[in-house]
Amino acid sequence: MNDHSPSSPGGLKGAPDVRAGRLDAEAYAKNFADLHPPLSAHEALVEADRCYFCFDAPCTVACPTSIDIPLFIRQIQAHNPKGAAKTIFDENILGGMCARVCPVETLCEEACVRNLAEDRPVAIGRLQRYATDAMMAAGEQPFARAAPTGKRIAVVGAGPAGLSCAHRLAVHGHEVTVFEARDKPGGLNEYGIAAYKTPEDFAQKEVDYLLKVGGITIETGKALGRDISLDELRADFDAVFLGLGLAGVNALGAAGEEAAGSAVAWIAELRQSLDLAALPVGRRVVVIGGGMTAIDAAVQSKLLGAEEVTIVYRRGPQAMKASLYEQELAQTKGVLIRHWARPQRLIVENGPNGSYVVGIELERTRETDGRLEGTGETYALAADTVFKAIGQTFLPAALDGAAEAIALQDGRIGVDEERRTSVAGIWAGGDCILGGEDLTVVAVEDGKRAAESIHRALTG
Ligand SMILES: Cc1cc2nc3c(=O)[nH]c(=O)nc-3n(C[C@H](O)[C@H](O)[C@H](O)COP(=O)(O)OP(=O)(O)OC[C@H]3O[C@@H](n4cnc5c(N)ncnc54)[C@H](O)[C@@H]3O)c2cc1C
Ligand code: SF4
Repeated sequence: MNDHSPSSPGGLKGAPDVRAGRLDAEAYAKNFADLHPPLSAHEALVEADRCYFCFDAPCTVACPTSIDIPLFIRQIQAHNPKGAAKTIFDENILGGMCARVCPVETLCEEACVRNLAEDRPVAIGRLQRYATDAMMAAGEQPFARAAPTGKRIAVVGAGPAGLSCAHRLAVHGHEVTVFEARDKPGGLNEYGIAAYKTPEDFAQKEVDYLLKVGGITIETGKALGRDISLDELRADFDAVFLGLGLAGVNALGAAGEEAAGSAVAWIAELRQSLDLAALPVGRRVVVIGGGMTAIDAAVQSKLLGAEEVTIVYRRGPQAMKASLYEQELAQTKGVLIRHWARPQRLIVENGPNGSYVVGIELERTRETDGRLEGTGETYALAADTVFKAIGQTFLPAALDGAAEAIALQDGRIGVDEERRTSVAGIWAGGDCILGGEDLTVVAVEDGKRAAESIHRALTG
């Protein structure tokens, strides 16, 4: 085994250097400022002028929520940002958050006809933010609710899927109760998305904005499977929507795995921290994984003052779930991405206060006929913290005990086109169903589609 740990001349030994307050107050504020600051009115007009208003609008086709992008850009061009926001909210009530977090480089902006080597795509995401910010700042909510239908719907989970479903149902005149296990609504918008993508408590501001439509009650601290059961919900409500997200974390299958932290749990702690200077971070951090969670854990470790941050991924850059843009973002923040390596074991030592990680042993990998295999060559990296970010899993325990079992497919809830589960009267959407891409915007679309299907089912 070769020891490639340049910062650890004494090998891998020594208590971990994990501590808070690595930076001064100014540096924290600067590092966690808005990733893409908002456009000014002038900048928005100039950017809107770049749109060709394509007849077939490939950008709209590429948007999972099918927002009429040329229409809202034309409305911005016509000095009508609030009209533009209405166009956006009609299809995506979380259009403000999606403007901040969507990987536009693989969705609408990738499809934009101006996305050419000698040009650049229209900045659709930033224009969307300009419009939605204008409407939210004015405090106006543009939806009139239909006459009351007398129907009551239970939504479980106040993440993007549940909130989107609740809003659309409320607009149709139904009464909605949202049951949320955590203390705050928002799901991963509140507990997961990188802090620099959604600063200034935007997730809660957006929930408050959405609730202005009326007809939605959120009950926090109420978990399905613990405080309420599916059978009770079916008895008390006319329909049920499940937007449970993914509560489990995949196993690494490497020796010493218990010494690795969960990137998702650490990010949740960071997002809830009122004082970033009080949040401990390792001097050398290794993150295992290739998706957005891996990027976010690595970048935020760096922004908190970690000296060496390395992402370890078992295949090449193209295979990473995080887009090339996200990978570049990590690299520009000083994160090193080591491709073609997989964990063999975590190197753990025992101290007076228990065991702690001091490094990780990796095996180099290669692809042969499309199959990943180890080369047998190993090397070690010194680390004060190791995070696992290798994907999340659906925990079906919340559904246990219901008289009728909901069918799962590949470990997630199976649904049809309309997001109906195998059990009559129960719909599901977002990360907990099979087939989603685990993106905020896809969860919003699921919630919207399920709401339309529930509305049709309840009103004939
Ligand atoms: C670290 C991280 C970063 C990400 N970054 C991005 C990004 O930049 N862009 C992007 O598009 N996507 C990103 N994603 C993915 C995106 O956040 C999810 O796809 C999206 O939040 C899914 O929405 P959801 O409503 O299905 O689930 P969630 O957001 O997970 O919400 C589910 C809700 O259900 C609640 N719940 C769970 N079980 C129960 C129960 N038994 N009873 C009651 N309530 C329950 C949970 O507490 C939670 O509030 C990221 C994900 C992670 C983990
Ligand atoms: S593809 Fe680009 S240029 Fe065409 S309508 Fe969409 S944003 Fe405008």
